[in-house]
Amino acid sequence: MVFTEALQRGSLETIRKSPKADLHNHFVLGGSRKYLLKQSGRDIQPVMKPLHSMEEMHAWNAANIGNFFDNTNGRRMLIKAAFTQAKEDGVTILEIGEDVWGLGAFFNGHIDELVDAFETAHKEIAPEIELRLQIGMSRHCRIDYLEDCLSHFWGCSAFYSIDLYGDELAQPIENFIPIYRRAKAEGLRLKAHVGEWGTANDVRRAVECLELDEVQHGIAAAKDASVIRFLADHRIRLNITPSSNYLLGRVADLRTHPIAKLYRSGVDVTINSDDVLIFDSDVSKEYLRLYQCGCLTAEELDVIRKNGLKSL
Ligand SMILES: [Zn+2]
Repeated sequence: MVFTEALQRGSLETIRKSPKADLHNHFVLGGSRKYLLKQSGRDIQPVMKPLHSMEEMHAWNAANIGNFFDNTNGRRMLIKAAFTQAKEDGVTILEIGEDVWGLGAFFNGHIDELVDAFETAHKEIAPEIELRLQIGMSRHCRIDYLEDCLSHFWGCSAFYSIDLYGDELAQPIENFIPIYRRAKAEGLRLKAHVGEWGTANDVRRAVECLELDEVQHGIAAAKDASVIRFLADHRIRLNITPSSNYLLGRVADLRTHPIAKLYRSGVDVTINSDDVLIFDSDVSKEYLRLYQCGCLTAEELDVIRKNGLKSL
């Protein structure tokens, strides 16, 4: 009741007080703008108008973030900024983690140091948040390189999930089958970015061959009724990021965002931030934007919010 009323009244402050999950958050770009300004003196400005390519996003990244945080202290600062942001947003389940290459670059190749950076920040800033620690990989990396990096992560019980991101078109999804089989044996929840730049069929193929539990984005699935049915029948969760989709030109506007069609067709969808620093997209704002543009009703948004809090 409080949440639906807050949407109807447009009260961001009250929306922030309701528990929410953020299951699609790249912590490097997911931090509190205010915290980073105070700690680093860097005033990071979000994108306001749609970009036309991933190259434009990389250019934004170079201008605003660059390699400024590319050292152990900088990385730790970004982790703390992510917890600060999540706390202010009323996020109660936060799924974030380091990219496999970050282990050597920022944590001396010691997995315990990497895990400790997240757990210390978690304890210090927002111990009330449920942290789901994730292993991240970029799709453009060679498989043997990723397997080498991952050898340090396997067997570490601190991790909850594994995710694949970066250029969706860089190499065939089948190349990642051995990694995902191993991740499954490790008991990790399996996720990958698919169906943001790719097609509905790409979403289905990735889910089938990697045995994914969840898809980051997956919005292209809305274009194919059989893929929608497949996702609903197999209870595959889509962790969707509306402002990011709009600002990267993946959807024409928020009002017609495919999340409504997917949700109303029985697909398990959640609403997430992706990259707060680029897209000005904290989770509370995403709910309010989807309500105010008429994409989803307050009641539907409340059901989505509560579903995201359920453990699967
Ligand atoms: Zn993402």
